[in-house]
Amino acid sequence: MDQKAPVLSLPTTPRTLGFFVDGKFVDTGNRHLFERLSPGHDAPVSRTVKCTVDDLDMAVAAARRAFEDGRWSRIPSVERADVLLRAAQIMRRRAEEIAYWETLENGKPITQARGEVEGCASMFEYAAGQARSLHGDSFNNLGDSLFGLVTREPIGVVGLITPWNFPFLILCERVPYILAAGCTMVAKPSEVTSVTTLLLAEVLADAGLPNGVYNVVTGSGSTIGQAMTEHRDIDMVSFTGSTSVGRSCVKAASGNFKKLGLELGGKNPQIVFADADLDDAADGVAFGIGFNTGQCCVSGSRLIVERSVAREFERLIAAKFAKVRVGDPLDPATQVGAITTLAQNKTIMGYIAKGKEEGARLVHGGEQLDFGRGYFISPTLFGDVTSKMTISRDEIFGPVLSVMPFDTGEEAITMANDTVYGLAASVWTKNIDKALNVTRRVRAGRFWVNTTLAGGPELPLGGFKQSGWGREAGAYGVEEYTQIKSVHIEIGKRNPWIS
Ligand code: NDP
Repeated sequence: MDQKAPVLSLPTTPRTLGFFVDGKFVDTGNRHLFERLSPGHDAPVSRTVKCTVDDLDMAVAAARRAFEDGRWSRIPSVERADVLLRAAQIMRRRAEEIAYWETLENGKPITQARGEVEGCASMFEYAAGQARSLHGDSFNNLGDSLFGLVTREPIGVVGLITPWNFPFLILCERVPYILAAGCTMVAKPSEVTSVTTLLLAEVLADAGLPNGVYNVVTGSGSTIGQAMTEHRDIDMVSFTGSTSVGRSCVKAASGNFKKLGLELGGKNPQIVFADADLDDAADGVAFGIGFNTGQCCVSGSRLIVERSVAREFERLIAAKFAKVRVGDPLDPATQVGAITTLAQNKTIMGYIAKGKEEGARLVHGGEQLDFGRGYFISPTLFGDVTSKMTISRDEIFGPVLSVMPFDTGEEAITMANDTVYGLAASVWTKNIDKALNVTRRVRAGRFWVNTTLAGGPELPLGGFKQSGWGREAGAYGVEEYTQIKSVHIEIGKRNPWIS
């Protein structure tokens, strides 16, 4: 007989953690602390330091020292790889604890958090291989007297700003690649989800990462995040978050022309042709918007469906939504957890109201669910959505799906591209010609055919258009954190300029 897995309990007292600089947690002392309430339970779970700009300066100085003295940037790559591999092992050993804190602060289901931690360990393993295979190029075709080399070098000190929707996963899609490249870094997690970024400091220290290579400052985006993007001694900032803050990063980075990696918003199309396996597609589409309560930059929130099957497809999705288990994130049976912040909850409910007001037909959901505590919204489906409606244009970042029917493949492609974003897209069809045509014509950095949200360390992530700059993960991901130098080597005596 199946035993139902137990629901985990809340911590008896909030966990208090200092920020992390030069291999040590800085004592919280009489520091001003931020208290985080679990969004699924309204209970205080953690306290972290509201760092000042001086704290950031201290962390950047530690990262700069660690970079310049070569304790990480100049050691053989096999030694860097060893640290990353040990970190993956330790992460797996501590997976339950990391997943628990991810769920408490973010509100995502515990089973999902566990899967994400496993994916993070895999990122570290893959990046270890990247550390060892990173190389430049040589030019042996410049004539007898000249030989050319192109070397790859770490870019320097990286500032990493991560959001609250995947605090650990997004961190681990970047940190091992930054470290594989030989950079040192300062991470700034979202203030509301800082704990797992601090736990990674413990994991990396146990794995043998030298002091000063990975530092963490906690605090608000408007102070610490902004100061990081303006900082003159940071060589690159990798930012993941809203397009509006991404824009302010671009302005702030001009002070020292630091390089930027930006992963921003998305309004991702899912095109469903009538010849798709509709039941499978409905399940995939429901997953694509329900996963992480739709608070996911790659959520497939625009459902572009061939008109002849649109109503049938709506019914299939609504039936899937009706069965989804929304509830306590700590319950292993839960599939859709809590909305991460009260502000985000208000934003999503505002968009649902706007959808109704602008004439979209509510097919399913649209309600605030009352479990006596926390913020929960039922998976929501709107039909008859037009390209003029706000819900079809703005990134809602919640479990809200808009159905937009099309008549021809050409029209579907035009509708899919009718957005300022270009982060991700899916196509569902059993016809290979249609699948390839859509894949080649829709402008998005990540594409799925007859699936959605699949991923892993090998394939890069990043956006076209206003969804960002650069790529994370894969071989491209590690290259983002390097710069190249060309070396011209004279063989023998130079041709004299003055004879
Ligand atoms: P933000 O862009 O404000 O936050 C993302 C990260 O940037 C957080 O660490 C935040 O810190 C930090 N930050 C905030 N202001 C600044 C600043 N001026 N300079 C540098 N860093 C800063 O996103 P929100 O949390 O406000 O979410 C708003 C919307 O953004 C969502 O509704 C969604 O549409 C989109 N979003 C997209 C994400 C994605 O993965 N592409 C992720 C998160 C949000 P702190 O949280 O401590 O203030």
